Amino acid sequence: MTTAVPDAFRALILSQQDGTVQASLRDDLPTSELPEGDVLVAVEASSLNYKDGLAVLGRPGVVRSYPMVPGIDLAGTVLESSDERHQQGERVLVTGWGMGERHWGGYAELARVPADWLIRIPERFSARDAMAVGTAGLTAMLCVMALEERGLTPGAGEVVVTGAAGGVGSVAVALLAARGYTVVASTGRAQEQDYLRRLGAHTVIGREELLARRPLERERWAGAVDSVGGDVLAGVLASLRYGASATACGLARSSELPTSVLPFILRGASLLGIDSVMCPAEKRQEAWHRLAGELPGVLLQEGVTEQPLSEVPRLAREILEGRVRGRTVILPR
Ligand code: NDP
Repeated sequence: MTTAVPDAFRALILSQQDGTVQASLRDDLPTSELPEGDVLVAVEASSLNYKDGLAVLGRPGVVRSYPMVPGIDLAGTVLESSDERHQQGERVLVTGWGMGERHWGGYAELARVPADWLIRIPERFSARDAMAVGTAGLTAMLCVMALEERGLTPGAGEVVVTGAAGGVGSVAVALLAARGYTVVASTGRAQEQDYLRRLGAHTVIGREELLARRPLERERWAGAVDSVGGDVLAGVLASLRYGASATACGLARSSELPTSVLPFILRGASLLGIDSVMCPAEKRQEAWHRLAGELPGVLLQEGVTEQPLSEVPRLAREILEGRVRGRTVILPR
């Protein structure tokens, strides 16, 4: 059975005039204006990430050309495919690859993308669940995989997660706790303490507790997942145990890293960089396979809010101000 492709679709679209970026919701974007690609997807859900907040508010460095449909994630069903690997009716997701930056993204009812970007939605997840995970969840899993590749095992000691009540942080807390790690969640929001415990955090600490007074502090962390950068990451590095590693994936606090080489040369500590955008397809497949098997249900229930496309401009401000808890799924209607 073939499904008719609509002539027009609903989308949030960013345009730039006199250096100012405007976001507007359109119900009548012609389907013919979609970018080139092998696969047309009927989008059922997208998600809100820190980078989407930057794009929608027109912060420099994210969107490379205008007009742009933002949304770095999407999940839905294949409507048309000219690539034999994907068939009409297949449930698929896309994260990263420059979508919502250089290529029209997921804040829309339709998207056309290269076939190489698609991942089959794991059986366990609905489109909504896949977007509850999204780029943030993929990144959290890439962090866990990187730490384990460096030898981290449950029982090694405390693993700290910074920005714990945010998207990457929440998924990291839930994943690590489900694998049996002793998770210390660091947050600037004391009111999220109960939430973080329900996700599995053993201990919840304030952000300031991580700040270092000296280049090397008492050895505490067996591992670390950092999504905030700045002096918080510097403090984490100063307290890594001998031979331990920290993953760096974000800059919600700062892109600066005011540290010294001492943790690296005196304690053999490692700083592991994590990128989800250009992450190779094979590694993504592995990460999604593990997410389907390991992500505890509590994250999908407790850590997720659903919002319509029309709320994205407001939510963009909230996520940049660090006021969004866990993950937000964006529905096109
Ligand atoms: P969120 O806004 O959901 O989470 C960020 C969290 O960081 C906040 O919830 C808050 O947590 C904490 N935070 C915010 N402001 C500050 C501050 N000034 N100082 C210290 N902590 C702060 O964003 P995401 O989870 O979507 O993304 C987090 C970061 O990771 C972003 O920088 C994003 O760009 C990056 N990222 C990178 C990826 C990659 O591929 N490398 C992929 C995905 C995200 P709390 O209130 O608990 O302290």
